[in-house]
Amino acid sequence: MHFSDLGLPVVVAKALEQAGYDTPTPVQAEAVPAAIAGHDLLVSAQTGSGKTAAFLLPALTRVSERSKGSGNGPRVLVLTPTRELAQQVEKNALVYGEGMRFLRTVTLVGGASFGFQTRALSRPVDIIVATPGRLMDHMRSGRIDFSRLEMLILDEADRMLDMGFIEDIETIVAATPAERQTLLFSATLDGIVGKMAERMTRNPQRIEIERKEESGNIEEHLLYADDNNHKNRLLDAILKESDFEQAVVFTATKLGSEEIADKLSDMGYSAACLHGDMPQSWRNRTLNDLRRGRIKILVATDVAARGIDVPAIGLVVNYDLPKQAEDYVHRIGRTGRAGRSGVAITIAESREFHRVRRIEQYLKRQLAEAVIQGMEPTRRPPKGRRPQGAGARDGQRRGGYGDRKPGGGYAGKSGGYGDRRGSSGPRQGGHGGERRAPRAE
Ligand code: AMP
Repeated sequence: MHFSDLGLPVVVAKALEQAGYDTPTPVQAEAVPAAIAGHDLLVSAQTGSGKTAAFLLPALTRVSERSKGSGNGPRVLVLTPTRELAQQVEKNALVYGEGMRFLRTVTLVGGASFGFQTRALSRPVDIIVATPGRLMDHMRSGRIDFSRLEMLILDEADRMLDMGFIEDIETIVAATPAERQTLLFSATLDGIVGKMAERMTRNPQRIEIERKEESGNIEEHLLYADDNNHKNRLLDAILKESDFEQAVVFTATKLGSEEIADKLSDMGYSAACLHGDMPQSWRNRTLNDLRRGRIKILVATDVAARGIDVPAIGLVVNYDLPKQAEDYVHRIGRTGRAGRSGVAITIAESREFHRVRRIEQYLKRQLAEAVIQGMEPTRRPPKGRRPQGAGARDGQRRGGYGDRKPGGGYAGKSGGYGDRRGSSGPRQGGHGGERRAPRAE
């Protein structure tokens, strides 16, 4: 399947070629033709699957045709949970719509100047990308005219609900024309998301993209730690032993992200934190510095890190476990972007074993348990949890960390993590440079 088979306007197909996209990802191959045909869609797809283009390409296809309505209001509205994701979506729209001379996009997110957004809304706009809260502010002051809206897109709908946006979303949806087309993207279509989706779509097509495929290029490891001190030593070792261009370390709290970023800076890394209490201008600056490679290690909380799309991120470390299982997928999706490979290492305290299990149940697979030589945990998770051939996900060993042998023993090591004897073992290709990935055995 090629992009030319999807029914896209020539300018958009050209822009994709320039962006280096050869073939549609599975979610694009399914969602784009269905959306161009005019269907409402309910799509379960994760970040990293190419879902942004899956909804932007049909949106741009619509916008490339003349509007049947009159007025200045948006023809497409994209709702996203976070500011960073909204900015990323707009950026992608401008890349895919590069050849569309008259395309006008506006991002409406909190933390940015009202005046600037209001001025932007006084001119005709094709696509608005917004977080629900700020959009509601503009709607309340009567600045949004939805009369010619053709397409409503909800990106990461489950996340928006988790963040308490349900009432805002219902209000926004009720303000849009009933004959609009609705595309809803979510990590899951179960439960409350599914119910909301039913209410706001008509005869939708359901597209479910297997979770497994998306982390196929991400090598995942699970390290157990005894306590906080042990976690810190593991983090040090991971950062020292891994070969990466840039990394993201996830913490559970804002304070934790600041403390770890400070500590890493003291150790000589160019590190910075990113969390929701930082002013937006500061968050933007940090993200820009990350994109430009000025920051090597970003220490972030979950919400702040959504939407980060920096291909040079070769390593994700979950210093603290995510609060919700689906956040695990979002976190590791910061690496392995744009077809590259990545490594994601999760540190869990032994007593958090049940939380690891919840993540594994969500993923429908076990995480490969590993150890770093000389830093093995003294406490072990309960026997029943022992991995069956850990590290053998998809029947493949990928080397890197020392995988724990079935039956509870450890693979023999001679230092560091994994087997350093064979340090010229198979390498994982990566970001231009090669990632050192010695084999465990
Ligand atoms: P997303 O899931 O939308 O966040 O996209 C993940 C990454 O894949 C982004 O860096 C996109 O630019 C990239 N991407 C999306 N679609 C394609 C494609 N068909 N070919 C290559 N890269 C893609």
